[in-house]
Amino acid sequence: MQYFAAPLQNLIEEFEKLPGIGSKTAQRLAFFVLNQPMEKAQKFADAIVSAKKNLCYCRDCRNLSDKEVCSICDNQTRDHSVICVVENPRDVIQIERTNEFKGVYHVLHGAISPMDNIGPDDITIKELMTRISGGNIKEVIMATNPNLEGETTAMYISKLVKPFGVNVTRIAHGVPVGGELEFADEVTLSKALKGRVEI
Ligand SMILES: [Zn+2]
Repeated sequence: MQYFAAPLQNLIEEFEKLPGIGSKTAQRLAFFVLNQPMEKAQKFADAIVSAKKNLCYCRDCRNLSDKEVCSICDNQTRDHSVICVVENPRDVIQIERTNEFKGVYHVLHGAISPMDNIGPDDITIKELMTRISGGNIKEVIMATNPNLEGETTAMYISKLVKPFGVNVTRIAHGVPVGGELEFADEVTLSKALKGRVEI
């Protein structure tokens, strides 16, 4: 039995397809959109279409960009000899927020995960290797996630990169700021110990 008129049902179903959105939330969002003036609803729809139409992957780093080369790769004041490898575009934003990194990025768009049938060819490792074989790269920082998939990917890439005489480093993982040692799991704690620095 259908509770809602077809266009409303359709809208709810579209919201339900979004990550982390259950049926209750999808209904709430659909009703919210319906209660907006036409102009605002149009703006929302336009933003989705425009983002989809006007964004592409940067030729060099594969991050999302509205130009052939993204603003980070295009910035000559950044150190192009250091590449920070991340799993997705959101990670770039996170690292940029720290204001600590002045090199460039490479976005893999995922991580190797045999369980999910994601192999090295399904992410942008080939593109990364093309950049590295082009020379002038001093260091590759593996900033993939500190989980099984991220570690596997970091190991896999480091084996490919090292023969080029490029330094491969892994970001240190540790206890979150504001966290307490007794709540950190042993993997995190052991990583934190191994990644310790002089103070
Ligand atoms: Zn780029």
